[in-house]
Amino acid sequence: MKPYTQNMSRRPRYRWRTWLRGHLPWVLVDLCPKGAKDCGDHEWFRFNEDTDLCYHCEVGERPHQHMPIDWDSDLWRELNRLADEGDEHYQQLIRQVRREEAEPPHAA
Ligand SMILES: [Zn+2]
Repeated sequence: MKPYTQNMSRRPRYRWRTWLRGHLPWVLVDLCPKGAKDCGDHEWFRFNEDTDLCYHCEVGERPHQHMPIDWDSDLWRELNRLADEGDEHYQQLIRQVRREEAEPPHAA
Protein backbone atom coordinates (compact mmCIF):
# COMPACT_ATOMS: atom_id res chain seq x y z
CA MET A 1 0.00 0.00 0.00
CA LYS A 2 1.30 3.41 -0.91
CA PRO A 3 1.75 5.93 1.84
CA TYR A 4 -0.93 8.58 1.96
CA THR A 5 1.51 11.40 1.33
CA GLN A 6 2.68 9.77 -1.87
CA ASN A 7 -0.81 9.91 -3.31
CA MET A 8 -1.18 13.51 -2.25
CA SER A 9 2.02 14.54 -3.99
CA ARG A 10 0.64 13.49 -7.35
CA ARG A 11 -1.61 16.54 -7.28
CA PRO A 12 0.45 19.47 -6.11
CA ARG A 13 -2.46 21.64 -5.07
CA TYR A 14 -0.30 23.87 -2.95
CA ARG A 15 1.82 24.71 -5.96
CA TRP A 16 -1.28 25.74 -7.87
CA ARG A 17 -2.35 27.98 -5.07
CA THR A 18 1.04 29.63 -5.07
CA TRP A 19 0.98 30.01 -8.81
CA LEU A 20 -2.57 31.28 -9.00
CA ARG A 21 -1.98 33.82 -6.30
CA GLY A 22 0.50 35.54 -8.53
CA HIS A 23 -2.23 36.06 -11.06
CA LEU A 24 -5.37 36.64 -9.08
CA PRO A 25 -6.56 39.20 -6.55
CA TRP A 26 -6.41 36.51 -3.96
CA VAL A 27 -7.88 37.31 -0.61
CA LEU A 28 -7.53 33.89 0.95
CA VAL A 29 -5.41 34.11 4.03
CA ASP A 30 -2.51 31.77 4.28
CA LEU A 31 -2.67 29.30 7.11
CA CYS A 32 0.90 30.10 8.04
CA PRO A 33 1.38 33.34 9.96
CA LYS A 34 3.56 35.89 8.23
CA GLY A 35 6.84 37.00 9.68
CA ALA A 36 7.15 40.62 10.75
CA LYS A 37 10.70 40.91 9.44
CA ASP A 38 11.86 40.93 5.85
CA CYS A 39 11.97 37.33 4.70
CA GLY A 40 14.76 38.16 2.26
CA ASP A 41 13.10 36.17 -0.49
CA HIS A 42 9.77 37.74 -1.31
CA GLU A 43 7.20 35.75 -3.20
CA TRP A 44 4.31 37.85 -4.36
CA PHE A 45 0.63 37.38 -4.56
CA ARG A 46 -1.84 39.86 -5.86
CA PHE A 47 -3.62 41.41 -2.91
CA ASN A 48 -5.86 43.79 -4.85
CA GLU A 49 -5.97 45.79 -8.09
CA ASP A 50 -2.89 47.83 -7.26
CA THR A 51 -0.89 45.96 -4.69
CA ASP A 52 1.18 42.81 -4.43
CA LEU A 53 2.13 41.45 -1.04
CA CYS A 54 4.73 38.93 -0.01
CA TYR A 55 3.15 35.98 1.65
CA HIS A 56 6.20 35.19 3.74
CA CYS A 57 6.53 38.48 5.54
CA GLU A 58 4.70 41.71 6.31
CA VAL A 59 7.47 43.94 4.97
CA GLY A 60 7.03 42.81 1.39
CA GLU A 61 4.70 45.12 -0.50
CA ARG A 62 4.93 46.56 -3.98
CA PRO A 63 2.71 48.04 -6.69
CA HIS A 64 1.02 45.26 -8.56
CA GLN A 65 3.05 43.93 -11.46
CA HIS A 66 1.32 42.02 -14.14
CA MET A 67 2.69 38.52 -14.57
CA PRO A 68 1.66 37.01 -17.88
CA ILE A 69 0.34 33.50 -17.73
CA ASP A 70 2.19 30.78 -19.55
CA TRP A 71 -0.70 29.06 -21.29
CA ASP A 72 1.53 26.13 -22.22
CA SER A 73 2.68 25.48 -18.69
CA ASP A 74 2.07 22.12 -17.08
CA LEU A 75 0.20 23.81 -14.26
CA TRP A 76 -2.25 25.49 -16.57
CA ARG A 77 -2.83 22.26 -18.47
CA GLU A 78 -3.34 20.31 -15.29
CA LEU A 79 -5.78 22.92 -14.07
CA ASN A 80 -7.77 22.60 -17.28
CA ARG A 81 -7.72 18.85 -17.03
CA LEU A 82 -9.21 18.97 -13.55
CA ALA A 83 -11.83 21.45 -14.71
CA ASP A 84 -12.70 19.18 -17.61
CA GLU A 85 -13.27 16.41 -15.11
CA GLY A 86 -16.03 18.54 -13.67
CA ASP A 87 -14.33 20.12 -10.68
CA GLU A 88 -16.36 23.27 -10.04
CA HIS A 89 -13.62 24.90 -7.98
CA TYR A 90 -11.11 24.70 -10.81
CA GLN A 91 -13.67 25.75 -13.39
CA GLN A 92 -14.19 28.91 -11.39
CA LEU A 93 -10.47 29.53 -11.11
CA ILE A 94 -10.03 29.15 -14.84
CA ARG A 95 -12.83 31.58 -15.57
CA GLN A 96 -11.29 34.06 -13.20
CA VAL A 97 -7.81 33.71 -14.67
CA ARG A 98 -9.17 34.22 -18.18
CA ARG A 99 -11.11 37.27 -17.07
CA GLU A 100 -8.04 38.75 -15.42
CA GLU A 101 -5.91 38.14 -18.47
CA ALA A 102 -8.50 39.75 -20.73
CA GLU A 103 -7.98 43.04 -18.93
CA PRO A 104 -5.12 45.26 -20.05
CA PRO A 105 -2.22 45.16 -17.61
CA HIS A 106 -1.73 48.10 -15.32
CA ALA A 107 1.10 50.46 -16.13
CA ALA A 108 4.11 49.73 -13.95
ZN1 LIG B 1 8.87 38.56 2.02
